[in-house]
Amino acid sequence: MKKLLRTDKATKKKICTICNVVVTQPLNHIESKHLNMKFPCSYCDKVFKGRLLLNTHVFRQHRDQNKLTKALGDSAPAKYD
Ligand SMILES: [Zn+2]
Ligand SMILES: [Zn+2]
Repeated sequence: MKKLLRTDKATKKKICTICNVVVTQPLNHIESKHLNMKFPCSYCDKVFKGRLLLNTHVFRQHRDQNKLTKALGDSAPAKYD
């Protein structure tokens, strides 16, 4: 994969080389804007364009189920790496 991010020497901020904007969540930005990755929710039918959006959704909407999954321990399949 070609370099999608560069670091601004002066500000030390990450800049997307495709859209030339400062990105605060580089991975999330690349995945959602440029890789068209989809992040399906494992608790409902919703699909999100970014890891961060999915995480926020799961945290807000499925907190209880989330606890349940965690309670199952390591035997539960790891959804996120
Ligand atoms: Zn970009
Ligand atoms: Zn959901």
